[in-house]
Amino acid sequence: MGQLLGGIEAGGTKFVCVTSSQPGVIAQRKVIPTTTPQETLGAAIAFFREHGPIEALGVASFGPLVLDRASPDYGQVAATPKPGWTGADLSGLLAKALDCPVALDTDVNGAGLAETRLGAGQGLDVVIYITVGTGLGGGLIVNGKPVQGLTHPEMGHVRVRRHPDDLDFKGVCPFHGDCLEGLVSGPAAQARLGHPLNDAPLDHPVWSLIGYYLGQLCATLCLVASPRQIILGGGVMSNLSIFPHIRAACAEALNGYVQSAAIGSDTFIVPPGLGDRAGALGALLLAEDLLAR
Ligand code: ZN
Repeated sequence: MGQLLGGIEAGGTKFVCVTSSQPGVIAQRKVIPTTTPQETLGAAIAFFREHGPIEALGVASFGPLVLDRASPDYGQVAATPKPGWTGADLSGLLAKALDCPVALDTDVNGAGLAETRLGAGQGLDVVIYITVGTGLGGGLIVNGKPVQGLTHPEMGHVRVRRHPDDLDFKGVCPFHGDCLEGLVSGPAAQARLGHPLNDAPLDHPVWSLIGYYLGQLCATLCLVASPRQIILGGGVMSNLSIFPHIRAACAEALNGYVQSAAIGSDTFIVPPGLGDRAGALGALLLAEDLLAR
């Protein structure tokens, strides 16, 4: 038995709290609805007190987050449309209440870390993890570490070339309108269809349209970061029939310019190997790395 670690996959609708004393193995797990910071963090703290004490806590959270350690706001949720959460001091509050060090990163960086250590991208030096759901985010993992600089990457908000049959839709991103997130997120699909995306039949043209746009993101990421693998998870990606559309659109956008047999293969753009456990396992890895420093 190793040290007891805690992890939180902090999402916009739920917090998944877990403990573990063995890599990749979850001991205790509790799902808490995301309501107010006070209520949700209070319930999370109660869980870790009941099943602790933990040596360290990793939090893989929805964002945006302030991750620059030089900032006085380090560890807080930055401006978010989610009511009540702007300025919530995630790492400060949890560290104080649980009396242990806290590692904070984005949900996609956490999931990406778990996929490169335990899932689809094991052993690969450059991996990108993208989630497509209520929002669209991406994490870039290089040599086993999530990339962070000025802020964390926000690859969901890149611009894409509009499909000729989709020129009228204005997009739903409050910042950019028809950026990628504004075109393919769950709320974008709801605005296009008037009903949730998952109610659309599998042969509905909306799926190939989403694939068309996500393929362009993958092509852009190939050109910018040269990943060995791009993993796409999240609620929208549970329809695996989107993947062939994405691969085709990526290849079409690159048009043979990037010379690698991997790009045309079905092992380059893939679903997560860990399914919906990637976020929680990633949070535990953040805690593990914190203690190993
Ligand atoms: Zn945007």
